[in-house]
Amino acid sequence: MTTNEELFERAQRAIPGGVNSPVRAFRSVGGTPYFVARGEGARVWDVEGTEYLDLVQSYGAVIAGHAHPRIVEAIRAAAGDGTSYGAPTAREVLLAEEIGRRVPSCEKVRMVSSGTEATMTALRLARGATGRSRVVKFAGNYHGHGDALLAESGSAVAHLDPAHSPGGVPGSAGVPPAAVTDTVIAPYNDVPELDDTVACVIVEPVAANMGLVAPGEGFLAGLRAECDRVGAVLIFDEVITGFRLGWGGAQEAFGVTPDLTCFGKVIGGGLNVGAFGGRADLMDHLAPLGPVYQAGTLSGNPLATAAGLAALDLLDRDAHRWITGQAERLAAGLQQAFAAAGVDAVVATAGPLIGLHLGATAPTTYAEARTTDEAGYATFFHAMLRRGVAMAPGAYEVMFPGLAHDDAVVDRIVEVAGEAALELAASRRAR
Ligand SMILES: *Cc1c(COP(=O)(O)O)cnc(C)c1O
Repeated sequence: MTTNEELFERAQRAIPGGVNSPVRAFRSVGGTPYFVARGEGARVWDVEGTEYLDLVQSYGAVIAGHAHPRIVEAIRAAAGDGTSYGAPTAREVLLAEEIGRRVPSCEKVRMVSSGTEATMTALRLARGATGRSRVVKFAGNYHGHGDALLAESGSAVAHLDPAHSPGGVPGSAGVPPAAVTDTVIAPYNDVPELDDTVACVIVEPVAANMGLVAPGEGFLAGLRAECDRVGAVLIFDEVITGFRLGWGGAQEAFGVTPDLTCFGKVIGGGLNVGAFGGRADLMDHLAPLGPVYQAGTLSGNPLATAAGLAALDLLDRDAHRWITGQAERLAAGLQQAFAAAGVDAVVATAGPLIGLHLGATAPTTYAEARTTDEAGYATFFHAMLRRGVAMAPGAYEVMFPGLAHDDAVVDRIVEVAGEAALELAASRRAR
């Protein structure tokens, strides 16, 4: 039998760090990553046959749970007809229409292959349409790994050794200073004063890559008003919140309408998808109608659109309400587990998203989020993992309960968390 240890050894010889996305390497929590052999619903099994109740759920891409029969069947049926043509297909139209039905601000939609591509292209579109260069992003918001937007990102970027990004400004080595001279970083939950050099403001309407930080009263509406004042494009990055926070995403939940919206994760049903959409007059600046170029060999891929449509089909308003209820029960149970162990923790929810902050007060900015006890998270993470519950191996990621997290799963996770919180408390006394 192959072990995780053996595979990780081989992986590290063949793949930088042994992984194809940094957080998976367990660098911030220590230890050896488990290599997943298969998943079903709320569970995954590693190559050694160990079972985990999974809160990672592909960082939100599989809201229906792993290998949902309806999604598997949709992919299977589509694959039998060919996997990519380089010509338009009917399901691309259906998916664009379905996104527009749920998110009316998306009068037109363009499909791409990842969330990163969606934000990169939305940025180019905003710049192309306004003829301006500057972009405003918020510290701790993650928008994928495009050059202009990596600066002060949360997620796994928070764990990147500052020595690798001298000056801390570009967010990664290899990003030339020129790529970020037009990137302005503002603190989250504080409406910046803009001027008419600003092409766009991009924001996670609920920040879910610095732990979970909800927008304060008036923050999103304030951004809308300030963008309107100077003629800047407001971009909501709903790659996580889109079709997770609720039927119409964050813009419906908070009643604030952006000009452009980026999607990913949920809308691919677990396959490689991103999309962005918005007002028709803005979107029509894209080629072939306009001068802003964007293209993709696999854009609107037949398998991905089949999986995405099948996933959205499972997500009616009742489904969203159900997941939110399960998340609230899970969060309350986790909060109780920490309280019983005497560990200061804030278990926050926003709709069905759950964030864990190991500290006494809920953070509202990236600076406050960074005060979380990272070492404590690592201890808690491993205490959970040893007992069969897989959380994300990074203190700034959130939990993604979905359609598969039924009462029995939630109860078991809470029970395990009770023991893990006690282990964390004991380790702190020993520290
Ligand atoms: C995951 C994520 C992205 C990037 O999406 P990828 O598909 O990983 O490129 C962008 N924005 C947010 C808010 C995300 O969480």
